[in-house]
Amino acid sequence: MDRLLTEIENRRDALIALTQDLIRIPTLNPPGRHYCDICALIQERMGSQGWQVEMVRAQGALGDSDKYPRWNVICRLEGRGPGDCVHFNSHHDVVAVGDGWTRDPFGGELADGKIYGRGACDMKGGLATSIIAAEVFVAMHPDFNGAIEISATADEESGGFGGVAYLAERGYFDPARVQHVIIPEPLNKDRICLGHRGVWWAEIETKGRIAHGSMPFLGDCAVRHMGAVIAEMEATLFPLLAGKRTEMPVVPDGAKSSTLNINAIHGGEPVQDADYTGLPSACVPDRCTLTIDRRFLIEEDIDEVKREVRQMMERVRERRPDFRYEIRDLFEVQPTMTPEDAPIVQTVQNAVHQVLGRSAEFVVSPGTYDQKHIDRIGRLKNCIAYGPGILDLAHQPDEWIGVDDMMDSAKVMAISLAKLLTD
Ligand SMILES: [Zn+2]
Repeated sequence: MDRLLTEIENRRDALIALTQDLIRIPTLNPPGRHYCDICALIQERMGSQGWQVEMVRAQGALGDSDKYPRWNVICRLEGRGPGDCVHFNSHHDVVAVGDGWTRDPFGGELADGKIYGRGACDMKGGLATSIIAAEVFVAMHPDFNGAIEISATADEESGGFGGVAYLAERGYFDPARVQHVIIPEPLNKDRICLGHRGVWWAEIETKGRIAHGSMPFLGDCAVRHMGAVIAEMEATLFPLLAGKRTEMPVVPDGAKSSTLNINAIHGGEPVQDADYTGLPSACVPDRCTLTIDRRFLIEEDIDEVKREVRQMMERVRERRPDFRYEIRDLFEVQPTMTPEDAPIVQTVQNAVHQVLGRSAEFVVSPGTYDQKHIDRIGRLKNCIAYGPGILDLAHQPDEWIGVDDMMDSAKVMAISLAKLLTD
């Protein structure tokens, strides 16, 4: 075990160089740039070391086009004897740069033990860490049993349909093929993320009747109806949700309650283009829409979640003549949580203790990530997110990853491989 840790120490420069190489490929999503380039880099690296490498384009998936093809790469190395397969899955896409940077977002600059760039922590640092960990493990234990897989997949930042979901539908995360999954998202090197809350996105529409704005009594204002909906939400729904608390170890603490965000509201005349210099016209709005993002707990049932909103709308209807509305489902994800006694959780927990000398904290993510597809489509439950980096830096300007954190996580990953794939 000590040899494994020493060898990781020796690979510090290689880890830095790989992280920089990955950051320097600007895999912006949307729209999904340079996916082929980043997959080719990994294909070449792992292929030259004898791994079987598959490049898979998510042909026809949401977002896939000839201009912006959704490429994924899956690398697999078979051991000498039969055994489990351990899979490291990272997304290779990054979000928009945004304002406020003082460093080159695609420069991979190294300063004071930090590597800067968009995607440094979310999650090219984690991807590089898992590759180095696997390479070192294989070099030290060429006679290992089972198999190791490393994938870099598309579109996590936009739902994962051209990435993990596509692969899961084609059996890549079938429990017969893969037994353990680690997703190196930046949850911090001493935390193990067991899963995430559920999601329901919906659009609520209130309906009115258009009329001249000088005689609003001849029409029916959809925006006023929506005002009543929001007032009812404030009075009854938000307090109801705040009162629901989960046993899941969700971080931060505020996300231990059920939450609802109003993503958007639109009513009346559409906003005109900036080059329109005239005045608005006088009309009573005949429709108003509200987009809601409801995050729910493992203790809640999605039908109940939807029923609460319908019941709230019915309470408004009782008080308002002519109140008409519609609720449209947009998107839903079930909550998921891997049990604490699952083999991958136990293994990584022990490895964290060995490397850091303290116990790993179990957490659950307030938002979802690719585990949802591995769980729901792949039917594989033995899955966690574990990787270096500070979650709060994700999607921020001057995003960075600490080299020491990556080194520690690489040790945890290599020890975990040794535990799962050698006697
Ligand atoms: Zn991420």
